[in-house]
This record gives sequence, structure tokens and C-alpha cells, in this order.
Amino acid sequence: MPGLQDLTIDELADEFEFLGQWDDQCRYLIELGGELPDLALEEKSEANRVPGCQSQVWFVPQVHEDPAGTTIEIRAKSDAHIVDGLIVVLLTLVNGKTPEEILKTDFTAAFKRLGLEAHLVPQRRNGLYSMVERVRAIARVHAPTDGKHPSPDPFDAVNGSHTSSSSSPRTSETRAVRPSLPVAERAATFDVSAVRAQFPALHQVLERGVPVTYLDTASSAQKPQCVIDKEREVYEQYYANAYRGVYRYGDRISRELEESRERIRRFIGAESTDEIIFTPGTTAGINLVANAWGRRFLKPGDEIVLNEMEHHANIVPWQWIAQQTGAVLTYVPLTDDGRIDLEAFGKALTSRSRIVAVTGMSNVLGTAPPLTELIAKAKAAGALVLVDGAQSVPHMPTHVVQDGIDFLAFSGHKLYGPSGVGVLYGRRELLDAMDPFLCGGHMIERVQTDGFAVAPLPAKFEAGTLPIAQAIALGTAVEFVTDLGFCPVHEHEQSLLRHAWDQMHKIPGLRIYGPDTSHRGAIVSFTMDGAAAQDIAQLLDLKGVFVRHGHHCTMPLHTRLGVPATVRASFGLYNTREDVDTFIDALHFARRELKLS
Ligand code: PMP
Repeated sequence: MPGLQDLTIDELADEFEFLGQWDDQCRYLIELGGELPDLALEEKSEANRVPGCQSQVWFVPQVHEDPAGTTIEIRAKSDAHIVDGLIVVLLTLVNGKTPEEILKTDFTAAFKRLGLEAHLVPQRRNGLYSMVERVRAIARVHAPTDGKHPSPDPFDAVNGSHTSSSSSPRTSETRAVRPSLPVAERAATFDVSAVRAQFPALHQVLERGVPVTYLDTASSAQKPQCVIDKEREVYEQYYANAYRGVYRYGDRISRELEESRERIRRFIGAESTDEIIFTPGTTAGINLVANAWGRRFLKPGDEIVLNEMEHHANIVPWQWIAQQTGAVLTYVPLTDDGRIDLEAFGKALTSRSRIVAVTGMSNVLGTAPPLTELIAKAKAAGALVLVDGAQSVPHMPTHVVQDGIDFLAFSGHKLYGPSGVGVLYGRRELLDAMDPFLCGGHMIERVQTDGFAVAPLPAKFEAGTLPIAQAIALGTAVEFVTDLGFCPVHEHEQSLLRHAWDQMHKIPGLRIYGPDTSHRGAIVSFTMDGAAAQDIAQLLDLKGVFVRHGHHCTMPLHTRLGVPATVRASFGLYNTREDVDTFIDALHFARRELKLS
């Protein structure tokens, strides 16, 4: 083996090819790393430390000025042999080169050639790209200033005290991808029996042979077999904690999580997976924004704009943060048919409006507010927009970039995915500027007894152990919905809604709340004169029809509607016209039992 200083990337590539298997290549990297000379103690300083690496890594650059030009030589060392091996690889691409050559080097291609892109676990790959960033920063400082490579303050990249992801390896260069086509634009046909066949819980048979008619999808959706299988696969085949172990199970888990994150990114049209934060659900996502953004940016007298139909999850966190910060809440009233009063919305916006928090679809009225119009008005007033996508994301296309959404929160369990996991999307600049919310493991880059530095996105907001199998299976759920296509799904759900709507209007004393079918998703909340909501729900259950009753976590809305409770039937992509007919028959049955007719 040639001395390290003479080793070339071609020789390394030959050796890797000769070894063939990752096991052997990995041992070779460790062996190479073992030969990397150590640095002096004083060189392992904070100023020389490379931020963004899981291991401790120090770079000591030397610049050689000679008549032929300026060349760079880096001596480096880490606290792990495998990382030292990666340093050796990296330095074959750097040492003895001019700054311009370094800046032109395609590091990714070189790493791919060795198979490193495929085999390194995500945190190690991120660490490697942090080193690349550091190398580039050093080269930029010494490159002739021709306007193309502005010379930054080298200490930006050196002192490591700044941990925003703009200096992380996850720059637009390495991670950001253009938003894909909105799923709604894909054409597909919809075969409801084939879809329904994939949901085992819908095929259970109750006592006396009564089938299940599940009309509570707005509360939580049933799961297709592929989602159930995926979660099971994780536990049975490769379960481990995520973003921690370099062993194979840990590596597989981290990759599967990143794949899920990427599917979700595409699904909502985000620019980068760094903007996709796994949370426990919608409630947790909104609390995160209210606390991490609100505490930092809301001042006394700033306005948080809500409306009367919001779920408690999109009211109470704001009430709480308003109490803490002195901000005030403004509630936009609803029209009598349960829509946001657009004129009142316009008037509610002032120069003090900081954020508009609005549902993508009401979980009671089914109202789908005209987000484009609301967002344009909010933006014109200088306010950010958070969309509570708990009900909308599973049923209609969302494209955060095209729609101009700043924050989007949604839950896996309503999206035909597992419970216990959800997503918060946030625009990168906003997430970068926010303080962390929960603190602990994984969200840090470095901890000392007297302080800590936060990790880059998305880890910054993912403290502690994630709901691992759930977050992975959420990616499967997203793929399931994406493959069906929102166009046919939406059309199917709307036809169920219209069928239910027509039949329900024929039932005496039944009152449906909210707008007509052209302004709502497939959710119908109603009351029947002379019957308590709970009694109706209970009697429907006798016929195997599962609906929810109560205030549905929207007490202010029920106050506005003037009723303490409603019964809600909500439809999902697996419901059929027969489900609607069974529901209508069951309503007639309830009326007879309650002697209403
Ligand atoms: N917002 C809306 C509109 C909802 O329907 C729900 C769930 N009912 C939530 C927020 C809260 O979702 P989760 O309980 O999954 O956090």
C-alpha cells in the first residue's frame, strides 16, 4: 500500500473494487484510518473542529504559496478509525490541489465511485459532507476573488458555534429537490372494491352477522394491509433505534426513515426533506410552532388570527402562547352556512397580524376554506400562515410551495397510516430561525456541561427517539394514497357525500351543519330534532354503523352553531355507496327506536 500522502483516489477505487464487499471495504477504511497521523493536542482546538460530524473531527489547513500557484494541504484527525478512513479518502481529493481545483471537485461522484454513498449510514454521510463543506470553505477563502466565489469569513465555517443548517451538509446542493407534480394531477381510475379489499378491519363481521360500516375516518382512518405489513416488517426484520447505530439494522432503519421523509416531501411538494419534521401528530406540530416560533417572535399586542371553526388543537396552543407572550387572538367569524367570512377576514388582518392559523378542512362542517385567497390576503398583510392539515391532507392535494403555506401540520393516523406519528412542515428559513422546542437527545450537535449547540434540521426538532416503525409505515401510507391519486379519490368521496346529502335531507327533523357540497369535504355533522347525539350514535352502532358524536374538540364552533353536540359521519376512500345506504337505513331505524316518526 502506498504511503497515505501518495495515495490517489484511483488507487482507492481499485482497492475498493478488488475488495468487492462492503464488509471488507469497511475494514480497509478502518485500517487506513489507523494509519492517519495524529494531531498535536493544541491542534484539536474548538477553532479547528468541524461542526456537523457525529465524531470529533479537526482540520488543520496549510496553504503553500509557490511560483506555480497556491495549493492546499490539510492535516486532519478524528476520534474514530472509520472516520479517519473517510478523512483519508477525502484528502486524496484535496491535498496538493489549488483552491479552484477543490471547488470544482465533484465529491459526491467520487464517493459514489467507492460505494460510500450507498453504504454509509445517514449520520456518517452527513458528517462526511460536513467535512466537504469545511474543505470548500477553506478553498473559498484562498480562491482568487473573481466574484464567483465570494470569500466568506473563514471563521464562519471554522468556529463551529453557529449550527444553523445553512452550514450543514444538507444544503440545497445535496438534499433539496424540486417539488414534484401535485398528486392530484395524476390520472387514475378508482375501483372502490379493490381498494376496500385492502383494509382488513372493514371486513370484520359483528354479532349476528352484522357487517362493519365505518364512518369515522375524520377521527381516525382504517389502515391498508401494506401499512400494517410495513410496520410488522420493521419489527420482524430490522428493528433498531434510528440515527444512532452504524450496525446494519440501525443503518437500514435510518435509511427507511429517510425514504419515508422523502415520500412525504414529494407528497406535499416541499423543497427539502430538512423541512419535514416527524412529530407525534397534528396537535404536537401546532404546539411546536406555537412554542418554538411564538415564544421567539410574538410580542405584546401582536395578533394571532384564528376563526370560529378551528379544532381545539389549533386554538388552545395559541391561547396558551398568547398568555405567555402578550399576543392577542382575533377570531374571524363564520357565515351562517359555516364558511370563513372573507370580508371579515380581510378586516381582521392588520399590520400587527403575525400569523393566521387556519384549518385545511373543518373536522365538523367539512368546510374547505379557500386557502389560496386566505393565504394571499395574509401574505399581503405580512402574516405567516399555518395550515392545520389534519383533515385536508388525507383528502385533497396539498402543495406547500405552490400554495404558499409556511407551516403545515398533519397526522399519520388520519392519512391511513399509523397512530403516534405525524408531520410538521415548516419553511426552512422559519425553522432555522426558531428556537428548539423539546430538548434532549438527537436534537443536539454538541453538549457541554454549560451549554449545547443544536443539530441541523430536521433533527433540531426531533428530540428523543422517534416513533420509528410508525414513521416508516407513514411513508407507505403516503405512497398508497399517492398511487391511488387524489383526483379519483376526491371524486369518489364527493359522490358519497352527495349521495348521503340527498338522502339525509329527506329525513324529517335532520339538520346538517355547514356549507353545501361544493364547499366541503366528505364530512357531515348533523342533529335530529328530539334526539340526543349520543343516542343516535349508540343506535347506529347496533346496526354496525360507526359514527362519532359530541363536540369533536370544537367547542367554540358548537357554541356558534348553538348546539352542544352533533353526530358526525365522515367518509374515506374505502367507503361505498352501500355504506351510505346502510347509514341512511340506520338513521331511520334510530328514528323508529326513539319514536320520532
Ligand atoms: N385538527 C383537526 C382539524 C382535527 O380533526 C384533529 C383530529 N381530530 C386534530 C387537529 C388533532 O389531531 P391529532 O389528534 O392527530 O393530533
